[in-house]
Parts: sequence; C-alpha cells; structure tokens
Amino acid sequence: MNIAATDEAWMARAIALAIREKGDDPANTPIAALVVRHGGLVAGAVNRTAERCDATAHAEVEALRAAGQAVGDMKIDGATLYTTLQPCGMCTMAAIWAGITRIVYGAGRDQVHKMYFEDRHLSTVDYIRDAFKDDLSLEGGIAAHDCAQLYYGPDDAVPEDQQANT
Ligand SMILES: [Zn+2]
Repeated sequence: MNIAATDEAWMARAIALAIREKGDDPANTPIAALVVRHGGLVAGAVNRTAERCDATAHAEVEALRAAGQAVGDMKIDGATLYTTLQPCGMCTMAAIWAGITRIVYGAGRDQVHKMYFEDRHLSTVDYIRDAFKDDLSLEGGIAAHDCAQLYYGPDDAVPEDQQANT
C-alpha cells in the first residue's frame, strides 16, 4: 500500500475505535487516536476528559500513555500518531516529547465547531509545527469528511453546557 492508502486505512480504524468506544453522537466527543510504528498498531485510545475529570485526557495523550506502557518506554521514536481531529497544542507537544515524528489527522479546525480548540485566533498546531518542523511532519485532511461527521459543525448551535474544550 502506498502511504496515502495506508493513512486512509489507519484513519478508518481510528474512526471505528471512536464509534465503538463513544458512539457517533458529537455530545460524547468521539475522538480517537492511534500510535502506529513499523506498520503495526502500538496503542489506540479515545478522549476520556469527561469520564476522568481530567483536562489532559485527550485521545492523543491517552494513546501516547498506552503506547508508552505497551513498549515500556516513554519514547515511541519514529511512530506516527493518527487522530480523528486536528490535535491541540498540548497533544502536539506531548507527541514531540514522546518521539512521534509524524502526526496525521482527519477533520481540521475549520470543519468543526470552535469549541474544540483552546485558542480562537492562533492555530497552536501550526505554531508548533513551524517551531519543530525538523522533528515533526503534520498532515491533515485524511478521511476528513468522515471524521467531521463525528463532531459539531462550525455553525451548529451547541448547548452551552457542552462547550467545554475537549
Ligand atoms: Zn489535545
């Protein structure tokens, strides 16, 4: 498989994980992330911020934690992180700390409600990519439409009590 087909296939698995764990209702924040290395799945996880009362339990951080446990090392050097939604700055930095060299995401911030991002003006992921461009490649828009279906759209009227950052 070429890399584009490979990315599509992994993203399909991430979407399936999100739906299996959290359903397809945007109210449940079905975000999933996979850590993949040498063509194999190291770990996958979904967003658990609400369940754990933990603002850092984004899907990407959860996946990195599980991957670290799986390999017995905080570093998963050279791995790719797949995530169904454009990662926030926290998760992008966590990926760099974990030795991730490539991040591939599905829906981009312009395709979803602004509540999903911690900063309304600056794209932190772009900022970090620029700062760490020799260490990290970042690619978005993989299965973007399918991913975006899982989240509130830019113009959706999201209930106030669901507008916490994810
Ligand atoms: Zn995040």
